[in-house]
Amino acid sequence: GADTKNFGGQLQAFAGEAGQAPSGPSLALLIQRLLIHTQETIARGDLLERRLDEARGEISELRSSVDRIQREAMTDPLTGLGNRRAFEARLASAIRDARKRRKPLSVLLCDLDNFKRFNDSWGHLIGDLVLKLFAKVLSDSTKGRDMPARFGGEEFAVILPETPLSGATRLAEKIRQELEHKRLVKKNTGDEIGKITVSIGCATLGAKETAAELLARADKALYAAKGDGRNRVSQA
Ligand code: GH3
Ligand code: MG
Ligand code: MG
Repeated sequence: GADTKNFGGQLQAFAGEAGQAPSGPSLALLIQRLLIHTQETIARGDLLERRLDEARGEISELRSSVDRIQREAMTDPLTGLGNRRAFEARLASAIRDARKRRKPLSVLLCDLDNFKRFNDSWGHLIGDLVLKLFAKVLSDSTKGRDMPARFGGEEFAVILPETPLSGATRLAEKIRQELEHKRLVKKNTGDEIGKITVSIGCATLGAKETAAELLARADKALYAAKGDGRNRVSQA
C-alpha cells in the first residue's frame, strides 16, 4: 500500500514537472527517473504477488486443518461414532427441529451389561473390540437422520428423529437381540468368548422437556432395565 502511494506521489511530481515544459535534457532525466521508479514498483508488485500466493496456500492448509480438528473433536477415536459433544450438539438441534415440525423425537441410552467383569475376564483390548462391535451394530441398525454416538465408556446413545416411543422401543429390541446373537470368538485361538449383552432405556421428548430432562428419563428407564435383570429394553 505504501509503495503504491509512494509511486502515486512520484507520478504526481512528474506530472507537475512535465507540465512546466522542461527543456529536452531535463525531460530525458525526468523520464529516466520515472522509469526507475516504475521498474522498482513492478518488482515489488511481483514480490507481493508471490507472498500472496504463499499466504493463500497457507490459508487453505490451515482451513483443512481446522476442518480435520473440528471433525476429530466430535468423533470417538475408538469406534468412529460421534462422541458426547457431537451427541449433545445434535440432540439440541433435533429437539428444535422436532418442536418446529411437530414431530416426535426419541432417544435410546444403551449400556453394556457387566462390562467390567467382561474386561476383567478377557482384558481391555478385547473389551475395546466389543465396543467397536457394538458401535457397528448401532450403525448397521440405524439409518438416515438417526444418530448413534458413544456417550462415554461402555455407554452409547441414539437420537431418533421422527420416531415415536413404540418405534424407538422396537428398534432398541432389535439392537439388543442383534448383540445377544453375536458369537464372539478369539481370533488367534478360536476360543469362544462369553456372551455380551446390552440394556437399553428409551424415552420420547415431552412437550416442554429439556434435553437434560429427556436424557434423565431415558437413564431412569435404563436403570430399570438393569434392575429387571439386564439384557432388556425398558421405556420411560
Ligand atoms: P452394568 O451391567 O451395571 O452396567 O455393569 P458394568 O460392569 O458394565 O458397569 P460399570 O459401570 O461398573 O463398569 C463399566 C466398565 O466399562 C468399567 C470399564 O472397565 C469399562 N470401560 C469403560 N470404557 C472402556 C473402554 O474404553 N474400553 C474398555 N475395554 N472398557 C471400558
Ligand atoms: Mg455404564
Ligand atoms: Mg455397563
